[in-house]
Amino acid sequence: MYMNRRSFIKAAGLSSIGLALADFGFDLSKVKAAAKEFKLKGAKEFTSICHFCACGCSVIGHVRDGKLINLEGATDSPINRGSLCSKGLGYGHIPNSDQRPKTPLYRAPGSDKWEEISWDEAIERSAKAMKKARDEHWIEKETIDGKEYEVNRTDALSFIGGSQINNEECYTLIKMTRAMGVVFTDNQTRVCHATTPPALNAAFGRGAMTNPWADMQNAKLIWIEGSNIAECHPMGMKGIMRAKERGAKIIHIDTRFTRTSKIADHHIQLRPGTDIAFLGSIINYVLENKRHDEEYVKLNTNAYCLVSKDFSFEEGVFSGYNEKERSYEPHSWSYQLDAAGKPLKAADINHPDTVYSKLKEHYKRYTFEMASSITGTPADQIEAAAELLVTTKPCVMLYALGMTQHTVGVQNIRCFTILQLLLGNIGKPGTGIDAMRGQPNVQGSTDFGIMFQYMPGYLSYPTQQTYTLPQWSDTYGSFRAKFLINTLKAWYGDKATKENSYGYSYLPIRNSHHNDSLYISFEKMLAGQIKCTYIDGQNPMMSQANLNLTHKGLSNLDTLIVQDVFVNETAAFWERPGCDASKINTEVIFMPACSYLEREGTMINSMRLIQWRMAGPDKVGDSKADLWIIDRLFKKVRELYKDSTAKKDRSILDLVWNYPDEDMAEAVLREINGYNLTTGKLLNGIAEIKDDGTTSSGLWIYAGVFAGDKNQAKRRGQADRGNMGIFPEYAWCWPDNIHILYNRASCDANGKPFDEKNKIVWWDEAKGQWDGYDRPDVTNLKDGPNTPGGQKPFRMTGEGFSRLFAADYKDLNEDKTARDHSYIAVDGPMPEFYEPVESPTKNSLHNQTQFNPCVVYPRLPDIQRIGTKDEFPYVLCTSGLAEHWCSGAITRNIPWLNELTKEPFAEISVELSNKLGIKQGDYVNVTSARGEVKVKAMVTNRAKPLKVNGEETHMVWMPYSWGFKGLAKGPSTNVLTIDALDPNVQEQEFKACLINIKKA
Ligand code: SF4
Repeated sequence: MYMNRRSFIKAAGLSSIGLALADFGFDLSKVKAAAKEFKLKGAKEFTSICHFCACGCSVIGHVRDGKLINLEGATDSPINRGSLCSKGLGYGHIPNSDQRPKTPLYRAPGSDKWEEISWDEAIERSAKAMKKARDEHWIEKETIDGKEYEVNRTDALSFIGGSQINNEECYTLIKMTRAMGVVFTDNQTRVCHATTPPALNAAFGRGAMTNPWADMQNAKLIWIEGSNIAECHPMGMKGIMRAKERGAKIIHIDTRFTRTSKIADHHIQLRPGTDIAFLGSIINYVLENKRHDEEYVKLNTNAYCLVSKDFSFEEGVFSGYNEKERSYEPHSWSYQLDAAGKPLKAADINHPDTVYSKLKEHYKRYTFEMASSITGTPADQIEAAAELLVTTKPCVMLYALGMTQHTVGVQNIRCFTILQLLLGNIGKPGTGIDAMRGQPNVQGSTDFGIMFQYMPGYLSYPTQQTYTLPQWSDTYGSFRAKFLINTLKAWYGDKATKENSYGYSYLPIRNSHHNDSLYISFEKMLAGQIKCTYIDGQNPMMSQANLNLTHKGLSNLDTLIVQDVFVNETAAFWERPGCDASKINTEVIFMPACSYLEREGTMINSMRLIQWRMAGPDKVGDSKADLWIIDRLFKKVRELYKDSTAKKDRSILDLVWNYPDEDMAEAVLREINGYNLTTGKLLNGIAEIKDDGTTSSGLWIYAGVFAGDKNQAKRRGQADRGNMGIFPEYAWCWPDNIHILYNRASCDANGKPFDEKNKIVWWDEAKGQWDGYDRPDVTNLKDGPNTPGGQKPFRMTGEGFSRLFAADYKDLNEDKTARDHSYIAVDGPMPEFYEPVESPTKNSLHNQTQFNPCVVYPRLPDIQRIGTKDEFPYVLCTSGLAEHWCSGAITRNIPWLNELTKEPFAEISVELSNKLGIKQGDYVNVTSARGEVKVKAMVTNRAKPLKVNGEETHMVWMPYSWGFKGLAKGPSTNVLTIDALDPNVQEQEFKACLINIKKA
């Protein structure tokens, strides 16, 4: 054992009892002192990256005789500087856990037990089950909107997972998935942060966290909303505490007072699901009082652009609404254009058609009093927050699932983009919008397009509307088509030629009228459409809303294949308490994956930093690296098809798949980076990617991770020129090692930093190029500030500038073909407040529109009931804890973490406790329209009752990490939660539903 229980508790500075851990990170001196007890001399040392949240902390481990004997934080990491939180430290138990399955397992239909099987049998059974589902339910042709298309896909096979596996594993997984004709593919980001990329993309052109963790030290105001960073991203606190030491103010806006509130200067409590009302009133305050940064706004945003005269907003809906379809036709959300098709701009920002005027008009309804009535927050508190924001710069805004997990998740985040752009807080040190991702490689699984709607690199997935490559290019632009061609070249090599549109027709074609997302896939299992599902590193039987539906879906499959470190609730769904295994005819194949410490490859953290993981201890039993399993699985599938002459199987047989057993991960990473196919050399960056078939790149945004024929992800350089927290020689950041996205916007029109004391990039007149402490975010470093290329601070939008109003806009090439198409949210060009689908009150802004008019719910009325306030009078909000992570599949197998927090509970206010006669520690029944759980009550004063639209409103809070497997078991909160989905990305509304609570 690498650290005994006593040392762990001591290192954590904890008592052994308590519901939660207060620590933000362990004191390095204590960890070192504990480590001295061990004899590390002669042990093999290795470094890796923590498996839990997406802070991406680096660990150092020591191995003797193949066993892990020590694990601690790496001091050279700019992220964690030697510290680890309780989860990161606790993972050291996993390579030595006796709960790990040692061999593949098989559960026969109707059986109540597992049988041990060999890898050959597990791979063969899995490959044959996939082939059967594929072949028996192959769709060669489909008539869509009256026209027949060759679609070459199967709707009977689904692939889930990716956020807990390495980048190379994500890449091979999606390559295999698409080659097999699968369109139902998704990963945990659907449940966590799916709303982030479209929200940020609609404003900035890229969908990722804008600034690095260490840059928070440069902020004067840290705005944290919808996140309990102290518990859920503990090492993210390092930059915050550094900023605080330098005098920064911290404001925390959330539904409860948490450990994050404790270190904040101000805490504001909001009713769950009302962030748009709150932020909308602050947008109104900025606009009404002209507190925006005029020079920044004029130079960098679309504020002066003229909006189409067809645009309107009435009765809670924007122009173009189709009530029957519950969707918009967004044409009226466009600009007025000049003869060249460019947006017309007004000379005066107050022209009635400008974006600025439209925003002003839209948000004037959002007074502080109105916001107070909706949110339950006193109006003077909202006003004080608004004043703090406009007077304290630079400001960084941080958020997590409190913002994303709503039926208005995309629009919640859009509010941040509007405020930060108006205030000039994007592209500069100490600013930005930091989307804090919760899974270790959820950024990677999203980058690689393990989502039904994407190809790798956020390229839209082909449907019948983009049936050919020219049609795709015409829709999304030639700029992005170049990158799609390079992925196809990486996948199909010499078989991808100019004549066959680089193998575009190998890709299965989605039906644009189908929703192929994660939640719908379980409904399709229930309907008998999906027959076989392969899940790698995800636990939907715990992590999805409305778990009774999830269970019904899994029970209706022919075959379920699960690949994970532990036998989790999904693999063992047929063992769920209260269910009769003999009536469940799903066969289950379990493939034991080794832990992260036992395998190598890269991970990417929330700030887009790609870091290398070395392999440390020996693999436990006969567990295997996910990459090995995926490789063997695809080879077996291909072997099963080897004699086929059918056209449908060419996508499998022609796929380039020849990875060596030795150093397989690095070989895959090279393919991801890409090659100049003429010289055979690795690409050095995105600029070298060509659209003529002479280059390949599996994922265009990662081009450069192997620049100079060196694996840049392995770098551990400590240089930080300018002391700005950039560390450009530590690992490698996409795109092109740019750490602060849009940093060109930190300079004026002449390339001079707005703030000389807080500069990051600049135009160097003497050198005749852009320079800086960070890599300047311009396409060509020699493009001066007075050239078109040097004047695009947001070069990834069609416009070249950022978008306060997410207009429908297609930028054209000189020959009038499409160059780029800016992203638009499906539910409006500006955020509008709507109530959650289950709400304790009426929407006070609209009589006719209660919740997001683009949400379709229920989809299956029998098992998706909407609860009413009469039956379920209280609001339920759920989130995570410091000691357990997500579904708890790993952390509930770490004894010390179980000791710290051993069971789920329902947190209620003192007032609610008095009202219902519930005391601390009493058992309570919590019920919703979807299910019931019995847990203990925890009574605190952390979430006060709020006065909402004149009525007292109570919230109950619950963590969600318990299930029926693992060392610590407990009821799953997600039987209660609602699977109403954001219409942009089909992410569920975890943060607000209705429940009742009674003493048991
Ligand atoms: Fe760091 Fe997150 Fe791991 Fe904690 S869980 S050690 S904060 S990466």
